[in-house]
Amino acid sequence: MKAAVYKGPHNIKVEDVPEPRVSGRKVLMKFKAGSICGTDMHLYRGEWKIKRGRIIGHDACGVRADTGEKVVMIPLTFCGKCYFCLRGFPSFCERVRFYGLTRNGFFAESIALRAKNLVPVPENVSDEEAAIVEPVALALHTLNSLKPNVGDWATIIGQGPIGLLMTQVAKLKGCQVIAIDLEDYRLELAEKYGATVCINARKEDAAKRVMEITGRGSDVVVEAAGTERTVEQTPFMVRKAGKVALVGEFKGYLNLEDADGAVFFTTYISPVEYPMAVELIAKKIVDVKGLITHRFRLADFEKALQTADNAAEKPVKIVITA
Ligand SMILES: [Zn+2]
Ligand SMILES: [Zn+2]
Repeated sequence: MKAAVYKGPHNIKVEDVPEPRVSGRKVLMKFKAGSICGTDMHLYRGEWKIKRGRIIGHDACGVRADTGEKVVMIPLTFCGKCYFCLRGFPSFCERVRFYGLTRNGFFAESIALRAKNLVPVPENVSDEEAAIVEPVALALHTLNSLKPNVGDWATIIGQGPIGLLMTQVAKLKGCQVIAIDLEDYRLELAEKYGATVCINARKEDAAKRVMEITGRGSDVVVEAAGTERTVEQTPFMVRKAGKVALVGEFKGYLNLEDADGAVFFTTYISPVEYPMAVELIAKKIVDVKGLITHRFRLADFEKALQTADNAAEKPVKIVITA
C-alpha cells in the first residue's frame, strides 16, 4: 500500500509499505481524506524529529473495512487507568502514544486501530470536512477551559486553521473577538467568521491596539501563532485576573509585571471533544469547509507539503484525499 513516510527533514515521501496487521481489538480502516497540520510541518521543516520510516498524519477520516461505516480517527491512545487518565487528562496519560509521531499515522491507504479510537461521522459530513476535526476539538478544549463570559473580549493571536476555529468557537461562546495575524487574507477569513476587530501585526502594534480597544486588556487570550514572540506578547494583552491559553508552542519567557492575577496555561489536543467536534460540523454550527485552500491526492503528498510551506500560495488548510 502507499503511505507518506518520514525519512528526515524536507524528506517525506510516498512509498510502498506493508499493509498494517489487524489483530485483537483492532479494525482495518480505508483512508478517505486527511489534512496537513502544523505538527506535520514541524516535522517537514526539521523543527521536530521522529523515527525515520514512520508514517505521518493524525487528522483523517476513513471507512471501516468491516462495516463500511465512515469514521474520524482519534490520533492518540491512552490507558484509562493512570494518574492523569483517572483525573480526566488522557492527553497526559503515562502511556500515551500519538499516531503520526510515536506510532504510524494516518496518511496511508490502510490503517489499523482500535474501535475505541473511532468516532462515527453522519452522512451529511463530506470526507474533506471529516478530515478537519482535530483543530475543532482543540478549539473546543481550549475555550471550554478558558470559560469566557458572554460579551468578554477574546483575543486570538494567529489566524491559521487553529486560530480561525478558535475565533469561531469564541463567537459561539458569546465573546467579542479580536483576531490578530500577519496576513490580510487570513484576517479576511476571521472577519467572515465574526471577528469584531482584525489587527494586522505587520502594520500595527498588536498589544497596544488590544489595550486601546478593550480599555483594560483582553478577558481571555489564545496564543495560536506558535512563535516565541507572540507567546511573550500575551502578558501585555491580557487584563488583570484574565486568562491566557498557550496552544501548541510553549517557548518564550513571560514578563508578568502587568498581568496581576492572570492565569496562564498550555493546551493541546484532547480526545474528549472529538464527538462534539463532529456534531458541530454536521450541524453546520462550526465551519471547516471555508478553511480549505488546496486539495491533493495522497500520491502527490510531497507537492502538498511544498504548497503548505510556501506563503505565496496563501495556504490555510490543505486536504489530502485517497
Ligand atoms: Zn495536528
Ligand atoms: Zn493513562
